[in-house]
Amino acid sequence: LLPILLHQFIYRKATPTTLPSFLLIGPSGAGKTAFLTLTERKVVAQTHTSTAPLAVELLLPEGHTPQSSHYRSPGDPAYERSRQFQLNDTPGHGKLRHFATTQLANPTNVRGIIFVVDAAAVAEEAGLNETAEYLHDVLLALQKRYTGATSSKGPKEIPVLVAANKMDLFTALPPHLVAQQLEKAISEVRKSRAKGLKDSGPALGGEDDSLDEDREWLGEGGEGSFEFAQMEEVGTTVTVQGGNVIGGDGVDVKSWYEWIAAQL
Ligand code: GDP
Repeated sequence: LLPILLHQFIYRKATPTTLPSFLLIGPSGAGKTAFLTLTERKVVAQTHTSTAPLAVELLLPEGHTPQSSHYRSPGDPAYERSRQFQLNDTPGHGKLRHFATTQLANPTNVRGIIFVVDAAAVAEEAGLNETAEYLHDVLLALQKRYTGATSSKGPKEIPVLVAANKMDLFTALPPHLVAQQLEKAISEVRKSRAKGLKDSGPALGGEDDSLDEDREWLGEGGEGSFEFAQMEEVGTTVTVQGGNVIGGDGVDVKSWYEWIAAQL
């Protein structure tokens, strides 16, 4: 226990680090702070709505092995080091979202994005649309980062975990339906954004207009609907996993930690 406490003490400093990091993004109320608190303290605590970004350095919980350490044994210093990561919590309120997009524009050390979704809220139209708009913007930012990259190697892949939270609630959609509904709603967001661009574009226009429209179009072009699999073309694998940070028959975020472990 002492080494763990010492570790927590040393690594709580708010200094910039070179640890692999994950951005915690999603609409307000989805459970980002609750997840961060759970991972940090291994206890479930009530949270209040977050209004400022917060970075916390953490250890991958016991029972999960970092991808890079599959051939190392626990106790090996390299193994222990590979369990360290940083979670950057970002506020979900519309006005504060620029914190998240700023980090997306310059994602040094970012191994992945954890987009937390309230699986009960997305069962309703308002919640679904809000979540889909936000996720659309995050995925579009990732796509632009990829297509706009100048290096010959191509930019590093940044995977996205859609953490479908609150599975303990009986109104929550199961993960595969969360995925389906989000894909459908993102298709609609994509359409209405394209229409908005057309309507607001200058009548004079020329090739530049269509170029802009292409750049703002998420995923594959054409009439078909948006699917998460289309993001693989631009270096982003989207995975949807269910869990609950609080309540029910006990906390269950194993599949999220497994996803984090796979990126470490
Ligand atoms: P944030 O705005 O994304 O940081 O959301 P919070 O972490 O503040 O959580 C918003 C509310 O949802 C709080 O009242 C939490 O207690 C609650 N909450 C978070 N996770 C769960 C969960 O898995 N199940 C249930 N039932 N409630 C949750």
